[in-house]
Amino acid sequence: MKQLEIVIRNQTGLHARPAKLLVTLAKQFKADIRIHFKQKHANAKSMVSVLTLGATCGSCIAVEANGEDEELALERIEEAIRMGLGDVDHPQQAVPPPIAVAASPREAEAVQADIPGVIRGIGAAPGIAMGPVFQYQPQELGSADLDASPGSNQMSLNEALALAKQQLADLHQQLSEKNLNAEAAIFEAHAEFLEDGELLEGVQACIASGQSVARAWKTTLDERAAAIAALGDALLSARADDLRDAGRRVLRLLLGLTEKGLALPETPVVVLARELSPSETASFDPARVLGFGIVNGGPTSHIAILARALGLPAIVGVPEAVLAVADNTPVILNGDDGTLIFNPEPEVLSRSVQAKNLWLERRQCAQEQAGLPAITLDGRRVDVTANAGSIANAVEAMKMSADGIGLLRTEFLFLDREVAPDEDEQFRVYRAIAETMQSLPVIVRTLDIGGDKPVPYIHLKPEANPFLGERGIRLCLNHLELFREQLRAILRAAPYGNLQIMFPMVSDVSELRQAKAVIDELRQGLAAPPIPIGIMIEVPAAALLADKLAPEVDFFSIGSNDLTQYTLAMDRGNASLAAKHDGLHPAVLRLIAQTIDAAHKHGKRVDICGELGSDVAAIPILVGLGVDELSVSVPAIPTVKAQVRTLTGASLQSLARQALDCSTASEVRELVRSFSA
Ligand code: PEP
Ligand code: MG
Repeated sequence: MKQLEIVIRNQTGLHARPAKLLVTLAKQFKADIRIHFKQKHANAKSMVSVLTLGATCGSCIAVEANGEDEELALERIEEAIRMGLGDVDHPQQAVPPPIAVAASPREAEAVQADIPGVIRGIGAAPGIAMGPVFQYQPQELGSADLDASPGSNQMSLNEALALAKQQLADLHQQLSEKNLNAEAAIFEAHAEFLEDGELLEGVQACIASGQSVARAWKTTLDERAAAIAALGDALLSARADDLRDAGRRVLRLLLGLTEKGLALPETPVVVLARELSPSETASFDPARVLGFGIVNGGPTSHIAILARALGLPAIVGVPEAVLAVADNTPVILNGDDGTLIFNPEPEVLSRSVQAKNLWLERRQCAQEQAGLPAITLDGRRVDVTANAGSIANAVEAMKMSADGIGLLRTEFLFLDREVAPDEDEQFRVYRAIAETMQSLPVIVRTLDIGGDKPVPYIHLKPEANPFLGERGIRLCLNHLELFREQLRAILRAAPYGNLQIMFPMVSDVSELRQAKAVIDELRQGLAAPPIPIGIMIEVPAAALLADKLAPEVDFFSIGSNDLTQYTLAMDRGNASLAAKHDGLHPAVLRLIAQTIDAAHKHGKRVDICGELGSDVAAIPILVGLGVDELSVSVPAIPTVKAQVRTLTGASLQSLARQALDCSTASEVRELVRSFSA
């Protein structure tokens, strides 16, 4: 038996992904591996068990291995822990706001203007739902049910587990097909819980002590989830919720209850609930649920993203008081402005019906006209391109008639794996995307990872502020072989389409020159022709130095997500700052204006590839400031194009000037509202 003592170094401790990485690694060895921390002991091959340790950054744990490959096992585990266990559980990435098909700010206001008793939450998924309230309460599986379970035998547990895994695989696939990879991963994690050896042993022990299968399952799951939740860590309590959610799925199957039922009435309703689990939300039948409002959860939560994917209007963060509203009370739920109106007057109802119909018509019309270019009423063309992160996104972008790919996030090739993709693998993917997009431009952004999205094969020292650390171009220039491989792969794929290269997080000319020198050297080796080169403007320093950078590039692309984060000093993933993290802040707009002016002075094009580019209120200002291209998420392409077609140049320029003169983001939003009125 071998033992090792080691300090956990990654910022977020042994939870979620770091724990998963450790468990996956431990499972590769035959040796029995145990972890001891304080008075707790865990099986290193069980996710549930490792999570229950609650080891945080700085915790000293003892790892003990016993078996033929014990030495190698400890060596590999030690190395993985020293490297930070690929800790990518950074705060959630900001997710796109509801897409631009929302009613215009003026229309949204018109619906709720002067209405007493409007209740406000946060709009999480666009659209208007009207119908009777249904207060949803999760099925309480009482103790009688548990002992009356007909499937009280080993076989039925295996069957229930197999069926649950199948359901989870189906949900995973549905969401992956919609490119909702982060949400799909939730169900992958659920499936992993259902295979957890430790957990299953616990259930077997309860069955052996005479409990029914259903009771044994519930008791074990509840115990483990409570132990994880008791650690008092927000991230870990989310894992405890996941465990309960996965557990309920199996329990329902064991008790012969259908998931679809979810105790919803036959006729369509507006669902109100304290909270909903991802499983419950993903199982909603759109024919029976018109929309939903929940008390817990923010606009960047997985529930909000699922609602958008399902096309269901949704509000999060509604006041607790709405849970007291009686079932069947008529309600209007507006996912655009986050309002709920109970017992609406007939006049309000008819305005809402009109707004909803207009919204549906607009969306339909935008989709029908997606193939047409986006040209303003005074004849200025604005390219509308796609933000893509996979070959599948490129295929969809073509279907949506994108004018190209304005941002190819290449991180998808690098994250969630043990070794870096080699040059050939990258070449094949870039070539496939170039060929898919035919002659349309594809802007390939070089690797943008760092302390916030670390990978196990790049050694990075733990950083106190990863967002201000070695990331983007800084990381690539410090890991030249990795950078060279990627650039070679792009240069080799370039002849198959219209590829362009873009560097992220550039903060001055010297970084740009170094990166360009690497490309020149590689081009010579490959005898490759020149390729357009641009940079992201997402660090305030780059925006302020745009006049120095412009002569040395072919284009700029404004990364408004990071530009906002760094200008306002507000973490883009911090849910409690979400309402203030607004790219329409006049300080951000001034940097954008300065960037566009500098680029145009040097005859260079500017696109915007952050979420601001699909914000209904921002589009008139951005076009007024002179942006040449809006690169947006694929589903937003038709509606962004449609909105551009409604705009006229001269008035937009005056709007943009006034916006630059505002003092706050809300003033800018107010200005746009009065402009649209
Ligand atoms: C941005 O920062 O706006 C951007 C588009 O890059 P990412 O969201 O990938 O950081
Ligand atoms: Mg960025």
